[in-house]
This record gives sequence, structure tokens and C-alpha cells, in this order.
Amino acid sequence: MDFGPFPARDPLDFAAASCVSVDFDVTEQSRFDDNRMGTMALLRLADRHEIPITWAMCGRSAEEDVNSYSAIVDSSTRHEIGVHTYSHLDATASTAEEFRADVQKCVQTLRVRSPQTFVFPWNREAHFDVLSELGFRVYRGANRAIGRPVQRGGLWNIRPVYYVDAKSEGAQSLMKSYVDLCIKRRSIFHLWLHPWSIMIRGRAEPMSDTLDEVFAYMHRKKTEGKMDLLTMGELANRLDQASGPGESPKAFPQVANPQSAS
Ligand SMILES: [Zn+2]
Repeated sequence: MDFGPFPARDPLDFAAASCVSVDFDVTEQSRFDDNRMGTMALLRLADRHEIPITWAMCGRSAEEDVNSYSAIVDSSTRHEIGVHTYSHLDATASTAEEFRADVQKCVQTLRVRSPQTFVFPWNREAHFDVLSELGFRVYRGANRAIGRPVQRGGLWNIRPVYYVDAKSEGAQSLMKSYVDLCIKRRSIFHLWLHPWSIMIRGRAEPMSDTLDEVFAYMHRKKTEGKMDLLTMGELANRLDQASGPGESPKAFPQVANPQSAS
């Protein structure tokens, strides 16, 4: 896991933040039911603890499960709809034109206006110039990190801290200790998961119980004023404002390749 950067002079107007991103993709038909049940479980948890979620939607999967997509959009919690390509396209294996067409098809399918957040399928990163051109502001890089946001190709990289899957059952203490570490280092606690990745033998309850404790802890830290709960798009807006005229963009390191970030 990468550690840092921790700028001495920090223009952000919050100390630390939590962010949850969910990749909504059904790339194997056998995951359809798990994906739907996992989605409903996450929406219930988000409502219970007032946790906004950034949903990185695969356009085709949204089309094939309109019920789940409607449940996300109609949720009483303010979630963000992000883009995960239409066909779960590998950006590193496609031309700029193919990539642009697939991303635009996804945006049209989702009927979302000016989406800001993009998540690369398999976290395989390429075509930043296309994303920038299409107005995207923020993505989730492949490398895990505790640190302040960094930039690549004009986009903010909200780096992940922890991936939640069925193996994370009972790992609430570990996740809560990451929350504490992020508060201490004024960093972004970024959890990411798939709805289907939290299902255990067709049941959402075991992992829901684990996440219930983590989400409750995040909510408590917010009410204590120690951490904000934001979507990736909201984080990007704050970062854009903070690095605007009069602020030194040097406070936000640029990385050409996240692999080399330290
Ligand atoms: Zn995916």
C-alpha cells in the first residue's frame, strides 16, 4: 500500500473524509441475483447510517437490471451515479475511439447529466485525455493508499484503502482502524466493493452485519466532526475549489503513474 503524500500546507477545508464506491457490473450471468441482493443490502445500510455511495455503473448491467438501478436513483440518501463503461470495456485494450463511444453510450443509457466520476473496469487505466474531454473530474486508481488525493491526466485520483468482499466478514476492527489512521493522517478512507462481492452463499446478512458496524463508526466520526462523508464527485468539487486561483496547486502532487506514487 502507498503512504502519503501529506502536504504540510493543506488547502482542503476538511480534515479527513470517507468515501464508498461500488462497482455495479454483472460480467457473469451467475452473479445477477447476488448483484441485486447486494445492491439492496447496501442501499439499506446507506440509508440507515446516512452514507452517500458513489455507484460506478456499467451501462449494460443497469439496462439488464432496471429495478436495481431505479432503487439506487430513487434512494432517499444522496448517492452519486458514476460511469464504469457500457460494456465493461478494458480501456487498456481499446482504441481512444472505441473507448469514447462506449463511455458515451453508458452516459446515454444511464440518463445522467455531466457525470464526474469514472471507474475503470478491472482498474485498468488508460485514455485519460478522452475522460478529460468528456468532462470527467475524478477516478479511482488501482493502487491502494493512505494519503491525500493525487492527480493524473487532469483527473483527481481518489485512491482506495480497502476492498470489501466475502473474505472481509468479521473484519470490522481492521476497517475501523483504517478509519482511525485516515483521520490521524488527514486522508481519505476509501472503501470499494461490488454488490455481488459481499454475498456469502446467496446471503447478504453476514457481510451486512460487518459493514453495519463500519458504517455506524463512519457516521459517528462525522457527528464528532472528525471526518466528512462524501462521494467521489463531491470530493473532486472540493479539490477543484481548493486548488483554484490563489491556491498553490503544488499542494497536490501530480503522478504520471500511480505505481510510482509513494
Ligand atoms: Zn467492474
